[in-house]
Amino acid sequence: MDFELNEEQLAIKEAASDFAKTELLPKVIDRDIKSEFPKELIAKMAEMGFMGIMVPKENRIGEEGFGFKFAMETLNGGRIGIAAQALGIAAGALELSVKYAKERKTFGKPISEYQAIQFKLADMDTEVEAARLLCYKAALKKDKSESYVKSRAIAKLYSSKVAMKTTIEAVQIHGGYGYVREYHVERRMRDAKITQIYEGTSEIQKIIISRKLLS
Ligand SMILES: Cc1cc2nc3c(=O)[nH]c(=O)nc-3n(C[C@H](O)[C@H](O)[C@H](O)COP(=O)(O)OP(=O)(O)OC[C@H]3O[C@@H](n4cnc5c(N)ncnc54)[C@H](O)[C@@H]3O)c2cc1C
Repeated sequence: MDFELNEEQLAIKEAASDFAKTELLPKVIDRDIKSEFPKELIAKMAEMGFMGIMVPKENRIGEEGFGFKFAMETLNGGRIGIAAQALGIAAGALELSVKYAKERKTFGKPISEYQAIQFKLADMDTEVEAARLLCYKAALKKDKSESYVKSRAIAKLYSSKVAMKTTIEAVQIHGGYGYVREYHVERRMRDAKITQIYEGTSEIQKIIISRKLLS
């Protein structure tokens, strides 16, 4: 397959690059913070033909349907990454919770001396460890080029669930401080939630797991 660009394609590439540098790059951080994308820029992109570009059949890469399979494969690989991200969020929340439990005193002793807190920490540690092993298993299968569709779905489903549960418990252990920004546990709770949504929601992971189980 020839990937060399002809003159016309090079001109389009250059125009796109110029547009990105002069129109999109300035104030990009501002827009990112505000989660805004100005309508005028969309209109300009449309004007220059950068929206809804039709690619002729002869320029298609691979067979018909290859794009979908490729996108799914990319998503599948990415799921291990999200599982690992969830694991990191959970492990971090546990670490902060252990530290805070030793520091915070109520009724004359650190809250780490109350069994209610110890049991929370024990559950968090056990689940984080289980999530870690599931992530390793999925990653190992990928490295060995073995089929890992189910393993990665399990790793993502479980790690994201653990991230959610662990961060909620971390907020609880921090009490009122857990709810405010300076202790960073409430942020972890929000970060954990997205891992149950992107790269395939938890419901979609369950569909994949059960389909494999029943096939
Ligand atoms: C911060 C953020 C970053 C993102 N980054 C990217 C990115 O980089 N690339 C990208 O492509 N996408 C990205 N996404 C999109 C993300 O992947 C989707 O939001 C996600 O896949 C869910 O799709 P949806 O929002 O359309 O929800 P929907 O598909 O509308 O789902 C809504 C609810 O219905 C459930 N549901 C849907 N279908 C079924 C079914 N068949 N059976 C049972 N339950 C079902 C879902 O599990 C969910 O609970 C991002 C989203 C966010 C919020």
